[in-house]
Formats: sequence, structure tokens, C-alpha cells
Amino acid sequence: MSKTMKALVKHHAGPGARLEQVTKPEPQAGEVLVKVSAAAICGTDVHIYKWDEWSAGRIKPPLVFGHEFCGHVVELGPGVDDIATGTRVTAEGHFVCNVCEFCRTGRGHICRDVEIIGVDTAGCFAEYVRVPRSNIWVLDDDVPDNVAAIHDPYGNAVHSVLIDDIVGKTALVTGCGPIGLASIAIAKLAGATRIYASDINPYRLDLATKMGADVVFNVTEEEMVSTVLAETDNLGVDVLLEMSGHPTAINDGLRALKNGGWVSLLGITPDKKVSVDLNDGVIFKGASVYGINGRLMYKTWYQMQALLRAGLDLTPMITHNFIMDEFEQAFELAASGNSGKIILYP
Ligand code: NAD
Ligand code: ZN
Repeated sequence: MSKTMKALVKHHAGPGARLEQVTKPEPQAGEVLVKVSAAAICGTDVHIYKWDEWSAGRIKPPLVFGHEFCGHVVELGPGVDDIATGTRVTAEGHFVCNVCEFCRTGRGHICRDVEIIGVDTAGCFAEYVRVPRSNIWVLDDDVPDNVAAIHDPYGNAVHSVLIDDIVGKTALVTGCGPIGLASIAIAKLAGATRIYASDINPYRLDLATKMGADVVFNVTEEEMVSTVLAETDNLGVDVLLEMSGHPTAINDGLRALKNGGWVSLLGITPDKKVSVDLNDGVIFKGASVYGINGRLMYKTWYQMQALLRAGLDLTPMITHNFIMDEFEQAFELAASGNSGKIILYP
């Protein structure tokens, strides 16, 4: 077998990336080697590709990037004997230490020493990727490759939506990127009664409707808060799923929240600091706010599997397919915002 493979490499500390022949990874003790069938582009990958301030501070080139994928197990590292080669899998991309206080109390998603695949270790925009066996998730046969490849953001959405009671509740999803879009379908299937969604991009709002949103707001053109209040007896929505990280969306979302409601904050604010009216937005409302980081290991994964088995359809949000050689085109499209999920085939 060849000792090298084709991979998309962040080759220097600057914009762009290069397709290169690199050394094929070898699974170490407790790891498996996965042959990648499909990968997906995440916002993080676009940051790495463009080389913004965050990537400059975090990424150490040369690095094979990418963290959303599915494939088949092709090699077992020393000590791994409980999974067969040929098994179709995806993986939790946060590799945790298993010994810190958080890991040892069942909260590996906030591990102190987490390493993220495709950020801190070699990623999946490649023919092969090395993954700890304990991070492997075996897929049901009927999950198509494009859905299998987006389990990472799908899991972010499941974690955000199912962290508190959603059954019989009204919800507002601010930000209809891939995670917001998945959240709409998840909330609907899980029993939310009416779902409002907002974005600034008509393409994304169209996808929001396809994913099951009942009412969508283009906040560059329409007043969201007063409409939501008017539709809810002046009470507001029970649940706010904040998936944009935009200060206006956070503030308007809180204004549209019902007393006693709950909030998942998933969107990451570019400037770190956001000014929020905590008094009226959270405290006097008696609201509960959850910070969402990644996916619960592995409670969220069982919920993801259960929702797919119950008929959750994520395919409307998967809008484009490219072969890896067309990566420039794919990243340009991802950066434009005029796409849902983009799949790359090695
Ligand atoms: P995305 O950037 O594709 O989606 C964000 C969406 O918000 C875009 O469609 C954008 O048009 C929209 N938006 C911008 N301003 C808005 C406004 N004022 N009102 C409403 N919508 C607005 O990203 P994504 O991949 O769907 O991820 C969503 C967010 O979650 C991002 O901020 C991302 O960085 C973050 N994220 C967090 C975690 C976590 O573990 N907490 C994991 C992955 C991603
Ligand atoms: Zn840990």
C-alpha cells in the first residue's frame, strides 16, 4: 500500500491551502485509521483557509485541516480489537484527556486539555485520518454519506436544542447557518410547536423554511421582536436558540424571550465582548441561559442517532458537492454564505 496520500494542507501562515502528497498516517495504540468517503466544510475551516486573527493565533502550519467526515475503518492500531475493518463510521472530533476533573465527572465536552481534529491534530480533508477508537461513532447503514459527514455540526444543534424542555414550546432560532438550520428540524421533530427563524441572508432563510421554520425574518428588512410579541400574546417565545453570535441577534432574541424561558448560546461572537441588557433580558425574566460547547460525550450522539431513526431529514440543508480538487471553488462558495452545507469528496 502507498505510504503517502493526497491531502488539503494549510501549508503556510497565510491565506489559501494546497493539495499535497503527505505521509499517510499510521494508527497509534488505541486508534483506528479511517478512509474518508466524504468531508464537509465548517465555518472554522473557512477561517483557517482565509487565515484570520483566530487561525493565526491557533493553527500551526503545515496542517491537514477539516474535522467533519465519514468513512470506513481500514486499520486498527495496537490494542484495538472491538471494531472490524470495513465498519462505516464518523467520529467525535474533540479528543479529550479522560483524566481531568471534567472528563472524570462525565463532562468530557468541557475537557481542560481537549484537542480538536483538524485544528490541533491532522484532520479529514485527506484520504485517511487517524482517530482514537473511543471517538468513533458507528453509523446506521441507511444514513447517507452526506448526512454522515455533517454529524459534528448536527451534534452541536442537538446539544443546543435538547439541553432543556422543547416539547410543546415555541422557539426562535437566530442565525440560519448550518447549525441553526439543523436546529429548526430537530426542534420540530422533538415537539416544538412553532418555530421562528432569523437571518440576514435570503438564501439561508429559504433553507430555514425548507427545514421547517414556520415564520422567517430577514432582519435587515423586517422588525422581528414586535412581530414575535404580537403573535405570542405579548409573551414572547419559550426558547431562544442563538446560532449567529451577532450582538443584535443576541439582544433582539432576549427581547423576544418569554419570562421563564430558556436560551442556548451557541454562536461565537467575533469580538468576544457583547453588550447585553442582562436585567431585562435575563434576570427579571427569570430566564435560564446555557453556554453550548460541542456535543455531550456521548449522550448527544445517542440522541442524534435516535432522531435520524425517527425520520429527521437533514438533506435539504446540504446544498453543494465538490471533489477535493475543486476546493478553491468550494471555499469561495462557503465564504459567500450562499450555501448550506458543502460536501467535499476526496
Ligand atoms: P454560520 O456562520 O454559517 O451561521 C451564522 C448565521 O448567522 C449566518 O447565516 C449569518 O448570515 C447569520 N447572521 C449574521 N448576523 C445575523 C443577525 N443579526 N441576525 C440573525 N442572523 C444573523 O455558522 P454555523 O456553522 O451555523 O455556526 C453558527 C455559530 O456557532 C457560529 O458563530 C459558529 O462560530 C458557532 N459555533 C459554535 C460552536 C460551539 O460549540 N459553541 C461550534 C461550532 C460553531
Ligand atoms: Zn479532560
